[in-house]
Amino acid sequence: MCGAPRRRDTGESLVAGRRHWQVEVSCAGCGHSWIGCGSGEPPPEVRQAVLAEHGPVTVSLAVSPQGSGARLLRCLREIRGGTLSEARAAADALRGSGLEGTLVEGELLAGALRDAGFDVVVTAGS
Ligand SMILES: [Zn+2]
Repeated sequence: MCGAPRRRDTGESLVAGRRHWQVEVSCAGCGHSWIGCGSGEPPPEVRQAVLAEHGPVTVSLAVSPQGSGARLLRCLREIRGGTLSEARAAADALRGSGLEGTLVEGELLAGALRDAGFDVVVTAGS
């Protein structure tokens, strides 16, 4: 790279239910370009770039489930991993203003929650 402005394209997609991401950085000055891609969880900087370029989506529960808090927590831990307190925070967010993420994260989360019998809404933007 020669220091000229760089162009960055990012993308995320679901292929057969699996998360794929790619990033392409190209230099307007010397034409140098760098392409990276992978599947699963993208590196944090790629995720941030995807969010910046495409904007977040918000997943929330259409109907706050009665008496299924434990099922929701179990479901969240299966999908997202992490600790019980992280799952509790995520469950609170789903019941409240929603859980923000990339479009693909939103689709994966909403799909898994629907499979588990929850009624969810996905909205673009934060
Ligand atoms: Zn350059």
